[in-house]
Amino acid sequence: DNAQPKKPSWIRVKAPSGKGYIETRNIMREHRLSTVCEEAGCPNVGECWSQGHATMMIMGEICTRGCTFCNVATGRPDALDVFEPGRVADAVKKLGLNHVVITSVDRDDVEDGGAEHFAQTIRAVRRQSPGTTIEILTPDFLKCDPSVLETVVAAKPDVFNHNLETVPGLYPSVRPGARYFHSLRLLQRVKEIDPAMFTKSGIMVGLGETGEQVRQVMDDMRAADVDFLTIGQYLQPTPKHHAVDRFVTPDEFAAYEKSAYGKGFLMVSATPLTRSSYHAGDDFARLREA
Ligand code: SF4
Ligand code: SF4
Repeated sequence: DNAQPKKPSWIRVKAPSGKGYIETRNIMREHRLSTVCEEAGCPNVGECWSQGHATMMIMGEICTRGCTFCNVATGRPDALDVFEPGRVADAVKKLGLNHVVITSVDRDDVEDGGAEHFAQTIRAVRRQSPGTTIEILTPDFLKCDPSVLETVVAAKPDVFNHNLETVPGLYPSVRPGARYFHSLRLLQRVKEIDPAMFTKSGIMVGLGETGEQVRQVMDDMRAADVDFLTIGQYLQPTPKHHAVDRFVTPDEFAAYEKSAYGKGFLMVSATPLTRSSYHAGDDFARLREA
């Protein structure tokens, strides 16, 4: 039986609308950019886009991996577009973003995993919008030479985010093709290369993990010096994707947030609708003021 638990009241979201939403959508179309907000069917798209906040996805819309929670198509991607970094920079400027999140599909087909393309995009945005803080959410570069990470870090994003996505025990069914300890080590290496860079990671819950496993992941992240943490409810994008095991209650999220701060994270967002990039800019501004 594939019956899914019924969505609780705290998960319902409003349909996107409003001027800011339409404007963001038009600028993205004009620059031929895709957003995770749309590709992943993110429940916060109305709220984020009406505030001029978006997560851009570079390096195409086809991924070489097939994570079972993810709505991005798997297949053979097109060649990298050398003009894309410029288009991202133009769009960021036009949207007047204070904080931009740049992410990508996984490119196991490219030798450096797209590291240089990431670096060029960061530099292009920085040149055109020096006041914009840049957060990147990267793939795991699993099949690449470890030195590619230095290429990305050298471009000096403000926040380096790489999601662990779930507890290690669920990797085979949720994130096949990825390795938990590889991803953890990647985060640790970012800090070793540039100790001043903020690192960030996140997981989804409601996939079948236990609370104890979640707290173990927090400990692992802190051992790798991760600064920021996000935890959100997993939602099934289509019936073909990984099933929702259960809806974690707002009280349980609040308890996760409390234990995460207790473990020393600088910033934590743990709510049902938290996504990796949700309110990332506000949080970062708060941190810089502190
Ligand atoms: Fe986009 Fe992130 Fe906001 Fe979702 S939470 S709409 S992915 S910026
Ligand atoms: Fe989706 Fe990223 Fe997994 Fe590709 S690597 S399937 S984009 S979550």
